Amino acid sequence: MSAKSSPVLYIVIPCYNEQEVLPITAPMFLQKLQSLAAAGKISPESRVLFVNDGSKDDTWAIITRLAAGDGRFLGISQSRNRGHQNAVLAGLLEAKDRCDITISIDCDGQDDIDAMDAMVDAYLDGCEVVYGVRSDRESDTFFKRFTAEAFYKLLNAMGAEVIFNHADYRLLSSRVLQEFARFREVNLFLRGMVPLVGFKSTSVPYARHERLAGRSHYPLAKMLALAFDGITSLSVRPIRFITGFGVLVALISFLGVIWALVQAFLGHTVSGWASMTCIICFVSGVQLICLGIIGEYIGKIYMETKARPRYIISERTANWKGDGQ
Ligand code: UDP
Ligand code: MG
Repeated sequence: MSAKSSPVLYIVIPCYNEQEVLPITAPMFLQKLQSLAAAGKISPESRVLFVNDGSKDDTWAIITRLAAGDGRFLGISQSRNRGHQNAVLAGLLEAKDRCDITISIDCDGQDDIDAMDAMVDAYLDGCEVVYGVRSDRESDTFFKRFTAEAFYKLLNAMGAEVIFNHADYRLLSSRVLQEFARFREVNLFLRGMVPLVGFKSTSVPYARHERLAGRSHYPLAKMLALAFDGITSLSVRPIRFITGFGVLVALISFLGVIWALVQAFLGHTVSGWASMTCIICFVSGVQLICLGIIGEYIGKIYMETKARPRYIISERTANWKGDGQ
């Protein structure tokens, strides 16, 4: 590995069913590597590392072809589809001992590749973590923009600290990755975990473009699942809310009991069927919600105790040297 002045960069790119966009964006990544190396900012040993996330189309074939054509392209393939977060993690952990810095970026060209210059500059200035932050969401639909912003607000309100408008476009030094590798959790929410590692960090703004080809894998349902996952992976605040809410309901119930007893002693009791039904419905509803949320945490604990591998690499491109299988 080289000195800090000319670091070896690995661009880590998760790919799932991206046969349409990969042939367009792969040369763009290589071009960026070339221009950064020509400017003396990174080492010529730098690489573009694709992580195939169990694609069902020709993505892996395209990656192996790219690697055969140019040694600066590397590829690893997950044994099956595990999701974006696991794919990024696989790439980062596989890269961490081979480079000085990594930049993770989506393969669809939505994240502005040119922001990498500023990221590398920030690293050369002493930052170990550089967050790519979207400066605008003009290219997104109103709906996507609205739901995405609600997503960050909800996460922060629920105690999962995340950088506003930062997704998974970021520079991490291998020093940070060595420490990050010690976070053993299997429920991954990278953007919430990275700030917990610490080290000197900064943000670089970038414009978010339209997808160059293919289609998004993040419909609303997946985004909601990610938000929920993020909250329950990083924070126990919802459980605290439940406790607070439980105390409040218990308090009100206590007042209600006193009121009912007073009424009974005064002989004002009425049949009370409606109020009884309402109370039972309300309380059982609240209890079910609370049980559900607590169950979610228990589910997480269950998965953590299993400690299954967070990624399984089944194939590597032929030019992957060293610990390859
Ligand atoms: N991705 C992945 N595994 C998945 C889903 C997506 O590796 O199961 C990759 C995908 O190839 C892309 C990135 O994650 O590089 C972001 O996905 P996408 O562009 O579909 O999401 P969006 O930008 O619409 O949020
Ligand atoms: Mg995208």
